[in-house]
Amino acid sequence: IKSGTDVLKKTKGKGKITKGELGGGSFQSMGLNPSLLRSLTIRGYKTPTPIQRLTIPSLLADPPRDVVGMARTGSGKTLAYTIPLIQRLGGRHSTAFGARALILVPARELAVQVLKVGKELARGYNSGGGGAHAGDAEGMNDDDSKGQSLRWGLVVGGEGMDEQFEMITNNPDVIIATPGRLLHLVVEMNLDLRAIQYVVFDEADRLFEMGFATALNEIISRLPTNRQTLLFSATLPKTLVEFAKAGLQNPKLVRLDAES
Ligand code: ADP
Ligand code: MG
Repeated sequence: IKSGTDVLKKTKGKGKITKGELGGGSFQSMGLNPSLLRSLTIRGYKTPTPIQRLTIPSLLADPPRDVVGMARTGSGKTLAYTIPLIQRLGGRHSTAFGARALILVPARELAVQVLKVGKELARGYNSGGGGAHAGDAEGMNDDDSKGQSLRWGLVVGGEGMDEQFEMITNNPDVIIATPGRLLHLVVEMNLDLRAIQYVVFDEADRLFEMGFATALNEIISRLPTNRQTLLFSATLPKTLVEFAKAGLQNPKLVRLDAES
């Protein structure tokens, strides 16, 4: 992680790097909600991977940082952004209008995978800090009858437009989308992105290689400027550097060596 540390020193600018920003080495030291911690344990995630250790504390810092995370495929980038996402949304549905988080991915199959990871992780979340039964088998209900569990919506090609409309009407807290379809819903169905606080560009290298740049710029122009922006990628193509300059504010860069 030598390059990551270098960049971190440079981008941090003033002041010392806190222990929290370097990562305490455990999920327990990250100040996560107890039921979220329990959910990680139940699913066999015992210790954070390097990319998780180096990004999650900054993503949860006060004020939260924008982050660019670069690490090889299979290094655990999905949890690096879904853990803070769930925590920052308070883990529960908000009845206020509009999605609060947006995850952009280059392909439908990836969106489905991220949805699965996020939903499972958020299950059993108890904003009160985890009641006695929040993490055990009985406590793992989605709680949808009370309309309280976090709502996730998929916006991807291949879904029928009726279903997409229904999904939007359900007022999801998190939207996982491919850029083309998302822009389509924004334009054709007035999908409102003005409540978005947390945006993730996952597999950003592929997002840009696949020619989504125009749609992405259009989407970005409709997002609030005071949002938190995350960009995760396996590589850093030149086009991505250009984009990062526009879409991110003083991001913390975490770039891990191939082995990490
Ligand atoms: P990437 O997006 O970097 O390619 P993924 O997020 O898809 O990587 O994760 C790769 C695999 O590692 C997945 O099977 C995931 O469940 C597993 N994984 C992620 N984080 C951890 C962790 N902290 N402990 C154990 N396994 C993990
Ligand atoms: Mg990934």
